[in-house]
Amino acid sequence: MTKIHKFVSLKDLHTFKLPYQADAVVELTAAEDLPSLADDYYVLGEGSNTIFTTDFSRTVLKVGIKGYECSETENSFELRVGAGENWHDLVRKTLDADMPGLENLALIPGSVGAAPVQNIGAYGVEVSEFIRTVEAWDREQHEFVLFSQKQCCFAYRDSLFKQHAGRYVITHVNFSLSKNWRAQLSYGALSSVPGDASAKTIMKAVVAIRNSKLPNPKVLPNAGSFFKNPVIPRQQLQGLLERFPDMPYYPVDDMQVKVAAGWLIDQLGLKGFSCGGVSVHDKQALVLVNKGEASGEELLTLAKEITSRVKTRFAIELEIEVRIMGEKELINA
Ligand SMILES: Cc1cc2nc3c(=O)[nH]c(=O)nc-3n(C[C@H](O)[C@H](O)[C@H](O)COP(=O)(O)OP(=O)(O)OC[C@H]3O[C@@H](n4cnc5c(N)ncnc54)[C@H](O)[C@@H]3O)c2cc1C
Repeated sequence: MTKIHKFVSLKDLHTFKLPYQADAVVELTAAEDLPSLADDYYVLGEGSNTIFTTDFSRTVLKVGIKGYECSETENSFELRVGAGENWHDLVRKTLDADMPGLENLALIPGSVGAAPVQNIGAYGVEVSEFIRTVEAWDREQHEFVLFSQKQCCFAYRDSLFKQHAGRYVITHVNFSLSKNWRAQLSYGALSSVPGDASAKTIMKAVVAIRNSKLPNPKVLPNAGSFFKNPVIPRQQLQGLLERFPDMPYYPVDDMQVKVAAGWLIDQLGLKGFSCGGVSVHDKQALVLVNKGEASGEELLTLAKEITSRVKTRFAIELEIEVRIMGEKELINA
C-alpha cells in the first residue's frame, strides 16, 4: 500500500547522502494509486543521479513499484518489470535464468524506472536496445500512457522522459531480450574477455572493472559522473590540440567532438581537491565524493570552482550531469 511519511531525512534516499530532509515522502507501491495523489511531487528512484543540496519543501514521490513477469516467444524473452525494482538485481536475475543481454550494464546503480530516463549505458551498450515499451502516468493529461521504443526518443543519455523532466512517472518497463544473443566486447576495457565468453563471465568482468574504477556509493557517497562530457566544435578542438596534443576526444558528427570532462579536470591537478567535506575523487576526476559531514553549499562551491578553472584553462563550459535539487525544484534543469 502506498504510504505517506512526513518530515523524512533524505540522507538514505540519495547516494550522495547529504543531511537534508523533505516535507513529505510518498512511497508509491502501486501504479493505480497515482491518479488519486496530490500532484506536487518530485519523482525519485534510488537517488543515485540526484543530489539534495538543501531541505526540500515539497513532497518526494519514491517509486517503489515492484514486480517481474516473464514470458517467451520463439525469438525472445519478454519481461515486464516494476519501476521500483533495482537495476543490478534485474541484470543478475535475467542472467541466472539464462536470458543474456543486459550483462554490459551490470552494477549501474539505481532503479529500473530511472533506466529509460537517461538511457543508461556502459561498455558499448545502451538500455534502449532492450526496451520494447515503457508504461507511465502522464501528470499533465492525467492518464496512463504506453510508449513504444520509438516514441521514447532515446539518444545518448537522453530520452523523452528527460526532455520532459517531471511530466511522466514511469511505472513499468517492458524489455525484449533476443534469443539470438551475441557478446558485445567492442569496448576497449572488455577487449581482454575471450570472444566465446558466456554472458555471466562478461558480467563478472564488467563488475570487476567497475569496482576497480568507481567508488562504491555505499562506502564513499557519490553520484557517479558529476559533469557531462562536453561537446565542442571541431574548429575549437584544433586550437586545443595544438596546446594539449594528448587531449582525448571522440567524434560526434562532422562538426563536433566530445571531450572527456574527467581528463580536463585531471589536467588541472584537481584530483583530491576539496571544499569542506566534498572532494574530487583521488582516482576518478569526474566523480565528486562526500567525505562525510559535507553540505550542499560546499558541493555547489566546489562544482563552481571546477567549472571556472576548466573554463579559464580550456575555454570549455562544463555542465552538471547529476540532478541538483534546490529547496523546491531542480536547479540545473
Ligand atoms: C557510482 C555510479 C556509477 C554510475 N554509472 C553509470 C553508468 O555507467 N551509466 C549510466 O548511464 N549511469 C550511471 N550512473 C548514473 C545512475 O546510475 C543512473 O542515472 C540511474 O539510472 C539512476 O537511477 P536512480 O533510480 O538512482 O535515479 P534517481 O537519481 O532517483 O532519478 C534520476 C532521474 O530519473 C527520474 N526518475 C527516477 N525514477 C523515475 C520514474 N519511475 N519515472 C520517471 N522518472 C523517474 C528522476 O526524477 C530524476 O530526474 C552511475 C551512478 C553512480 C552513483
